[in-house]
Amino acid sequence: MNCPECGAPENLCQTRFDEFLVLEFTDPGYGAVHNLTVCTFMVQHSSRMSRQGWIYERDLLREFVVEKKSPSLIRQQISKSVDSGKRTFTFKSKTGVPVITKSAWAKTILDVRVESAEAYCADVNAWAKAVLEDAETIAV
Ligand SMILES: [Zn+2]
Repeated sequence: MNCPECGAPENLCQTRFDEFLVLEFTDPGYGAVHNLTVCTFMVQHSSRMSRQGWIYERDLLREFVVEKKSPSLIRQQISKSVDSGKRTFTFKSKTGVPVITKSAWAKTILDVRVESAEAYCADVNAWAKAVLEDAETIAV
């Protein structure tokens, strides 16, 4: 069965995601794009989040991809903001029902090559950019 959310064959997306996180935590060359991997995967799998959580995640992806903000800069922004780190909404989904119904995407996590850190980082960036472009057309 294909993943109902990102469309990856045989639900391989979750397995791949788990493998990538291990790789990113053990090799800094791969870990350089950790923020993008997590954020992009979350945007494609909206059943894990509340509606506001998904919108937050998509905004974050835009900040990474378009505005080229680093994770440390975004952490700084959050800690400086008035409600320092205290979200006023629930991030996690209470129902497990997807926020968006899209299941056809230009790219999925399966398009990311792992043979070298260079290829990996380039492909995660391309995947993130493609997902943002797809996600920006969705009205929620
Ligand atoms: Zn998936």
